[in-house]
Amino acid sequence: ANTTPDNPHASERSATLFDEAQQFIPGGVNSPVRAFRGVGGTPLFFNHGEGAWLIDEDNNRYVDYVGAWGPLILGHCHPAVIGALQEQLSRGLGYGASTAAEVDIARTICKLVPSIERVRLVTSGTEATMSAIRLARGYTRRDKVVKFEGCYHGHVDGLLVKAGSGALTLGEPDSLGVPKAYTDLTYVLPYNDIEAMKALFKEHGDEIACIIVEPIAGNMNMVPPVPGFLETMRELCTEHGSVLIFDEVMTGFRVALGGAQSVYGIKPDLTALGKVIGGGLPVGAFGGRKDIMDCIAPQGGVYQAGTLSGSPLAVAAGQAMLREIQKPGFYEELGATTEAMLAGLKEQARAAGIPFTTNQVGGMFGCFFSGEDSITRFDQVMACNVEQFRKYFHVMLNNNVYLAPSAFEAGFVSAAHGQAELDTTMAAAKKAFASL
Ligand code: PLP
Repeated sequence: ANTTPDNPHASERSATLFDEAQQFIPGGVNSPVRAFRGVGGTPLFFNHGEGAWLIDEDNNRYVDYVGAWGPLILGHCHPAVIGALQEQLSRGLGYGASTAAEVDIARTICKLVPSIERVRLVTSGTEATMSAIRLARGYTRRDKVVKFEGCYHGHVDGLLVKAGSGALTLGEPDSLGVPKAYTDLTYVLPYNDIEAMKALFKEHGDEIACIIVEPIAGNMNMVPPVPGFLETMRELCTEHGSVLIFDEVMTGFRVALGGAQSVYGIKPDLTALGKVIGGGLPVGAFGGRKDIMDCIAPQGGVYQAGTLSGSPLAVAAGQAMLREIQKPGFYEELGATTEAMLAGLKEQARAAGIPFTTNQVGGMFGCFFSGEDSITRFDQVMACNVEQFRKYFHVMLNNNVYLAPSAFEAGFVSAAHGQAELDTTMAAAKKAFASL
């Protein structure tokens, strides 16, 4: 590829494929944020991945900071994951019945995330949060749910209110097709606003089935919790008999082996998982306190099911992934690589005189075109310079760095990222900041 900002590399085959895609697939994509609406231009079509790199249909190579939106913490085609899949493939794709591997992965999840005493596998993060909420409602016999502005929990009807990422990128925080009666059951509070939460519970605490929260918000760019935010919701839920659900679909096994709950030392009642536990295949999970999980069918009266739940392939990939990330030093190294990358970006921004700040926990990060010292609120995220991000995105892309095509997404580093990838990233960033 011939890749300078003045001479963007060829993307003819991606462009042709996107034209064709639009003839058969709504908007040409199977998930909206892939369409590049947040940054403009034509989305790339990828042919394969190798470690930290993505290779598109025009044979351009990119350092990948999307990681399939989070799952690929080992990078693409890790031999342990591919090997586990090949081994399972030779034994069949699924049986619609239980397997030893399901027991093994459930045991591992319960060991690594001690708040999870029982866990059930599903096939996506959306199913995990949706099921956790149904369970919380069934357990408490209450209907009201509390969520936070800018948090995304999948495309669950009642939660598509002030949701983040894709919905924000499209400028459509709410969706058509969601009956008002559903969202009437959802209270939306500002993220990191402790007083607003206390006020709501004071008035309505005894009607609230659950709080669902991203313990580190990763769908309004990336915003960590302020001290006291998670602690207060834990106290309020305990006091009012509401269920605390941590949506760790993104943060689980990503920010630390025990997820965000281990970083901040808060024990939720239920946890939703996805992304990393599937190793790149479609998997989600939800789990938590035994007495609550016992309310699910066949033991309890809350129905939840799935033809492909616990798919042997997905479980094999997940088991391999969970084995790798338990190796000593894994998260220290991942965190150090991420930190070095962000320090480099900040230095390049400073040299170019561009206001720029970052957030990071483990292998997850956020970059903000903002003059603020720290970003902890949704309105600060929304006030960032999106125009600068768009330009930056395209110069990075033309210089072999693939970022999430939206100013409202978190970024991900994998264990396959090393010095060569950081060098490519810094060379691109120098040009990108200089172009603003
Ligand atoms: N919860 C969080 C925090 C997410 O980031 C996502 C997806 O990005 C989901 C839930 C939904 O997961 P899925 O896209 O697998 O349905």
